Amino acid sequence: MIGVLALQGNFDSHIKILKKINLKHKLVKTSDDLSSVDGLIIPGGESTTITNLLRRNQSLIDGINQLSKNKPILGSCAGLILMSKESNDSRVHNFGFLDVTTSRNAYGRQVHSFEAKINVKNNTMSYDINVLFIRAPKVDKINNGVEVLATFQEEVVAVRQGKHIGISCHPELLDETLIHEICFKGKNEIS
Ligand code: GLN
Repeated sequence: MIGVLALQGNFDSHIKILKKINLKHKLVKTSDDLSSVDGLIIPGGESTTITNLLRRNQSLIDGINQLSKNKPILGSCAGLILMSKESNDSRVHNFGFLDVTTSRNAYGRQVHSFEAKINVKNNTMSYDINVLFIRAPKVDKINNGVEVLATFQEEVVAVRQGKHIGISCHPELLDETLIHEICFKGKNEIS
């Protein structure tokens, strides 16, 4: 069962993807909700708003930190910003699960949202998937221990460190399941 952080943002579309790949889900709003989950999704939304809601609940922050020690966490867009070690906005909580630096809104404003194909490389697999970029962050710096999982026009758009994955755009809004399968089902070959 995968937890989906449900404080703000597009958690519904992640639930749809989990259903599509036959994984059970649980909405996570408090630290109690983290018990018995096998992984967590931090959805897109507004990283400052999610931060404010998280900071009202230190035990939830502690619980997510604890979970990250042995369970996979997937963050998309705002989720990637929250998972990164550093970002260009001091109002954002950086969990630091991914040793990268991100900059918010680096692809422009809402009106600059666009659909694209990104290239995912995972072991022997190379696969193009459709995604939406919506006020997406950029990954400016990648430190030791972080792998590039996907690129778009030679820029890094998804990274992995250990079990954790962060992606700057939204595959889930276009019904793409691959990133979720890699994170939570260990998929690493094209089937
Ligand atoms: N721009 C948002 C932020 O900085 C992220 C946008 C998104 O999650 N689609 O938090």
